[in-house]
Amino acid sequence: MQDLRDLSFTGKRVLIRADLNVPLNEQQEITDDNRIKQFLPTLQAVLSQGGRAVLMSHLGEPSGVDPKFSLRPVARRLAELLNTDVALAPECVGPEVTKMVSELRDGQVLLLENLRFHPGEKKNDPEFSAQLAKLGDVFISDAFATAHRSHASVVGVPRLFKAKAAGLLMQKEINYYKQALENPKKPLCVVIGGSKVSSKLSALVNLSTKADKLIIGGAMANTFLAAQGLQMGRSLYEPDLAGKALELLGTLARRDCKVYLPVDVVVAPSLSSQGLGRPVPVQEIPADTMALDIGPATSLLYREALHTAETIVWNGPMGAYENEDFAKGTHDMCESIANAHGLTVVGGGDTDAAIHHMQLAHKFSFISTAGGAFLALLEGNSLPGIRALE
Ligand code: ADP
Ligand code: MG
Repeated sequence: MQDLRDLSFTGKRVLIRADLNVPLNEQQEITDDNRIKQFLPTLQAVLSQGGRAVLMSHLGEPSGVDPKFSLRPVARRLAELLNTDVALAPECVGPEVTKMVSELRDGQVLLLENLRFHPGEKKNDPEFSAQLAKLGDVFISDAFATAHRSHASVVGVPRLFKAKAAGLLMQKEINYYKQALENPKKPLCVVIGGSKVSSKLSALVNLSTKADKLIIGGAMANTFLAAQGLQMGRSLYEPDLAGKALELLGTLARRDCKVYLPVDVVVAPSLSSQGLGRPVPVQEIPADTMALDIGPATSLLYREALHTAETIVWNGPMGAYENEDFAKGTHDMCESIANAHGLTVVGGGDTDAAIHHMQLAHKFSFISTAGGAFLALLEGNSLPGIRALE
């Protein structure tokens, strides 16, 4: 794969796929601009050389053209952060766009409208890829968070370029992943949580071959506890996966990977309960309650287990953190990882949201901008958007 520094941009149209898919509120205001900020170094590298930047991204899941999914707020935020004009094209391809691109001068930026307004994007339509590719002389992909999708702008377009490279964010994401999981300083401790074993089973299987310690929390832990015969009351768990969970525990034991499960949980009548949460030993979960967070004894146990780790990889909250009453376990996990001295790499949409909400992002070596793509790497898969750059 070529490095950004191997290409020259002066006077060239530089077509850049970024992931500027940021969350918006009802008023179409950006609620978290982290992905835009993380993309700036690549854009600045291009502009400082006098490149003419043509940016493309998707936003949300529109079905056809829908002003609610316009990239206009992103163009505005980019302009503020760069302190320069950022023009927004009315579409992503077509005569108007071609004209706007041809009028770009060195160091100027044009953002194409949402790629998913066009049906060719998700279908990886070769015709659509060819139209997009005509808009650039060189191609850069910085869209790590979309690299697990075989969409036109992610795989179809780069295949049409000889001069192409990974952007600085893309490289950073790949490098941290390699440091943490391909070549980790040992012991490697993996913390995994979130809602379902089923959505992360492949990741668990792959990680079970690499980790020295596996710490499990969230509703995911409920499935393991239930599989071991504990009564989970009305907790969220997957009874169908009991067999797989026990099989995995067996494999981990044979591999000498140490496994940590909650010893206590915070229970309450429902996800929206307020002021009713209380910790109980996992052996004493009342039939009419749900386990919604790891308990204080478990937080302490996990902190001790993390203490000796040289590398920590974390995906998935320890509880139903969206409700403040059940956020303590995730908060404690942030603190424990922060106090460990090794390399700490985190990824996952909800994990990232929880950490930013708690304002603890500065405590980690690296937080991935990706959810699905990060999980795909944890599963041991190579990403189509990265292969297309090679
Ligand atoms: P990520 O996006 O970081 O990969 P997931 O999507 O797998 O994480 O899981 C996050 C979701 O899991 C959150 O919505 C959270 O409320 C939920 N969750 C975690 N623990 C529990 C629990 N004990 N009971 C119910 N929901 C839980
Ligand atoms: Mg999620």
